[in-house]
Amino acid sequence: TSAPIDPALRAPLPVLGRDVTVPLVTGGHVTYAALDYAASAPALERVWDDVAAFLPYYGSVHRGAGYLSQLSTALLERSRDTVRQHLGVRPDDEVLFTRSTTDSLNLLAGALPGDTEVYVFETEHHAALLPWHDGATTVLAAPCSAQDAVDRLTAALAGRSRGRPGLVCVTGASNVTGELWPVAELASVAHAAGARLVLDAAQLAPHRPIDVGALGVDYVAFSGHKMYAPFGAGVLAGRADWLGAARPYLAGGGASRRVEVTAAGTLDVQWHGGSTRHEAGSPNVVGAYAVASACRALAEAGFSALVEREDALLRRLTGGLAAIPGVTLLSLLGDGAPRVGVVSFVIEGWRSSQVAAALSAEHGIGVRDGLFCAHPLMRVLVGAVHQGPASGRDSRPQGRSQHAIRASFGAGTPVEHVDRLVDAVSSIVHEGTRHEYRNDGERCAP
Ligand code: PMP
Repeated sequence: TSAPIDPALRAPLPVLGRDVTVPLVTGGHVTYAALDYAASAPALERVWDDVAAFLPYYGSVHRGAGYLSQLSTALLERSRDTVRQHLGVRPDDEVLFTRSTTDSLNLLAGALPGDTEVYVFETEHHAALLPWHDGATTVLAAPCSAQDAVDRLTAALAGRSRGRPGLVCVTGASNVTGELWPVAELASVAHAAGARLVLDAAQLAPHRPIDVGALGVDYVAFSGHKMYAPFGAGVLAGRADWLGAARPYLAGGGASRRVEVTAAGTLDVQWHGGSTRHEAGSPNVVGAYAVASACRALAEAGFSALVEREDALLRRLTGGLAAIPGVTLLSLLGDGAPRVGVVSFVIEGWRSSQVAAALSAEHGIGVRDGLFCAHPLMRVLVGAVHQGPASGRDSRPQGRSQHAIRASFGAGTPVEHVDRLVDAVSSIVHEGTRHEYRNDGERCAP
């Protein structure tokens, strides 16, 4: 690609690892192009600076009487407040620190009232598809547009009994197509039918502001490591009533207010309410502080500026890839659907794992290939590509594989990385690869 680079496209938020060089099988080294932000984004320099400044003062939270313990406890609670403001939650909502989105959604699944009916689209990431109890879960078929998603949910909820609690789980942005889901509309459909909605914001949180009140969602879950804060913390925020009535997600110290052994030799336990009820054990204060730091950095950079730049990079990436013969970009909600910086594609006649391995070994570019923990979605998306007109020169070694290649980027991505990917895919398609790679990226024996 030879399009000139506009200085406005410069990465607005510096990340760690910008100077990492990696060896190429073709000889020499090259600066690594990290294009797998959707799996784990690199740490913002700002997050690292904040964490490094805090580490000398690190102490046990909620336990020690000493100064550093008090400081750590205060920082944990201040981090909770920062997240609370960042998400615009209602005043009586809880904000819990967890390990990740997967952890948050499993926590919520365990806190649902016993007779809750759950509704989930088959197109969700497995973390949002699998935590719910099988018997009471309705799996909705993949929609073909945002409006179709709203219509399908409306139809699914039409006959439900309002006497039972209900929960709809939906993604904010797909981890495969990057497409944005009509969250506010889906939340109002859920509410009209007397159900609640939990937003899987794992891919949304790094790219868009989330206003829980304005969207009308009841719960939101996201992961620090996908939003530039890779220190092992996630968040679950939302309505306090079910969370406050549920058995603690983790039973242990910190969650219990009073523990006694009865005369009968059993335990009599009184649990805490509030966030501590589900945060037993020593809280990950460093992770929570890093998440709060990332929230602050994103808000200060300004989401409108971040989105504008991301859209420009997206146009460059999708335009460049779409112009390469044999490349099909994956879309569920239709070509015009807005998306975050996540793009998946297949190449006619190429095994996705071969292309991803060659991008790494021969070009120093890190993407991901496979099914992206969304097997039913990939069946729908890649199945649709295979059903297109048969090509005479299709020699796809894996036959009907549903694997794809995914490139994803964010606020630390230089535009050069996007251009490098387009050039590398083009050179692979036109000139082939140096080696044949196994599915795990290793070179096959000659
Ligand atoms: N939901 C979506 C949409 C995701 O992309 C991911 C991570 N790929 C998850 C949930 C799970 O996140 P984590 O691995 O941080 O628990």
